[in-house]
Amino acid sequence: MPVEEVSVGRGGIFVVIRVYEYLLKISGALLPLLGIWYLQAYQSPQMCSVEHAMHNVAVLAATVLSGFVAYVTWRCYRYSGEPFLRWLTLGFLGFTIIYAPHGLFTSISDTHMALFLLYGPTSRVVMGVLLFIGLLSYGRRRDVQSERDRHGRWWLWGAFFLAIDVAVAVVAETSLLKLLNWRIWLEMSALVVSISGVLIVLARHRSLPLMMTYALSLALFAQSSISFLLATPWNHQWWYAHAVFAVGFFFLSYGVVRAFLTTGAFSTVFSAEELMSRLRIEKNNTEEALRQLQVANSELALMASTDSLTGASSRRHFLATVGLELSRAARNGLPLSLLALDIDNFKSVNDKYGHQAGDAVLRYLAESVRDALRPHDVFGRVGGEEFMILLPDTSKGAASVLAERIRSRVESMAIPFVDGVLRVTVSIGVAEFGIDGEMQDEVFKVADDRLYRAKHAGRNLVVS
Ligand code: GH3
Ligand code: MG
Ligand code: MG
Repeated sequence: MPVEEVSVGRGGIFVVIRVYEYLLKISGALLPLLGIWYLQAYQSPQMCSVEHAMHNVAVLAATVLSGFVAYVTWRCYRYSGEPFLRWLTLGFLGFTIIYAPHGLFTSISDTHMALFLLYGPTSRVVMGVLLFIGLLSYGRRRDVQSERDRHGRWWLWGAFFLAIDVAVAVVAETSLLKLLNWRIWLEMSALVVSISGVLIVLARHRSLPLMMTYALSLALFAQSSISFLLATPWNHQWWYAHAVFAVGFFFLSYGVVRAFLTTGAFSTVFSAEELMSRLRIEKNNTEEALRQLQVANSELALMASTDSLTGASSRRHFLATVGLELSRAARNGLPLSLLALDIDNFKSVNDKYGHQAGDAVLRYLAESVRDALRPHDVFGRVGGEEFMILLPDTSKGAASVLAERIRSRVESMAIPFVDGVLRVTVSIGVAEFGIDGEMQDEVFKVADDRLYRAKHAGRNLVVS
């Protein structure tokens, strides 16, 4: 299937559409600001909705969900070893443990307002800081398996988060509370780390879709912090702040789920554009590899079917061709003849002049025989200095004439060699399919027998 071009066009309109795309993303990410502004402008300060049960359900749902997402993130971390995911797991774990008391203390919120309230911003700050550290660790070398298997540290962190729970209770219930406006400072800190995170992602990781999902979550966390800062407990702005945070949380867990369902890592889930261009590159590479393979294959096939010294067909290829030609001749009722050719006293050429001279003779002889043949005649080297020639559409009479021509050509051939020239002769046996036998083996044997009769009769002879 052909790979589609990614964009339908370049130039001016491309830029406009790109800008529009950015605007869509930015306005989507900043949509909660509209709600914040609306509530701030139009809600009456007295309008509160003190719904303990609903708050409990919401916090319980958030706690269970963040516990679950912490687990999924941990699974991704175990799989890919991304340090970023290690911090993300800790962020979710910290949020789960620190946020839970915010629900637990709902029923005593009237009398212990600080105890009830402080867990919210504290959990957001802790998560925000851990996510921020995670962002700074983004792209670092992946943790090795033994590091991923270290379960002890999770328990240590869990204990640390519980200690924070205790510390919050101490602050809320003692005179430390009066030291500074904790809720505001914590919320401001959460706001600052979230915005810093967004800026880092935008500056460094814009091309990765999961990191953009991450930035979107941080943008929503930042806006929920703004909303919390403007809210008073139980008023609409306060509930709205919860909702904005929840949506941010959903987006972040969506990113984690995408990572889990794909590569187990945030850094290797690519955008559609990037995937398409990678696909195109890979496709080109594959096509190029395929082309090279085809070239190599045809070279191999040629090597397997031809003898490298003489260029004649290999024995195997020759025999396969005989089978094909035989059935073709039978089908068309055409004659088919066979020559068996052997160099006379070839051993003495080797003995007298050396193997190289013998090779040169073989090459010259093959050249000379080929010149005498028609394109569809098949010339095969079936042994060391033994050749066979298959002559389609040729009767024994015509084959004998051709054999004689070959014999006399070879006889008159002067093969240049170091100190002068070499001369050889050949003996040839002729047979015809259908006349000297029906089967391939029979006809081969007849041609061979005639060749040896030619040898016995003194060599340099054709026997039909
Ligand atoms: P005859 O006339 O009876 O055929 O005598 P001959 O010497 O040609 O017979 P024989 O079949 O005994 O010898 C064939 C020789 O061919 C033996 C071997 O050394 C030589 N030979 C076979 N293949 C090659 C080759 O590739 N290169 C060279 N140089 N010599 C080869
Ligand atoms: Mg010989
Ligand atoms: Mg021989």
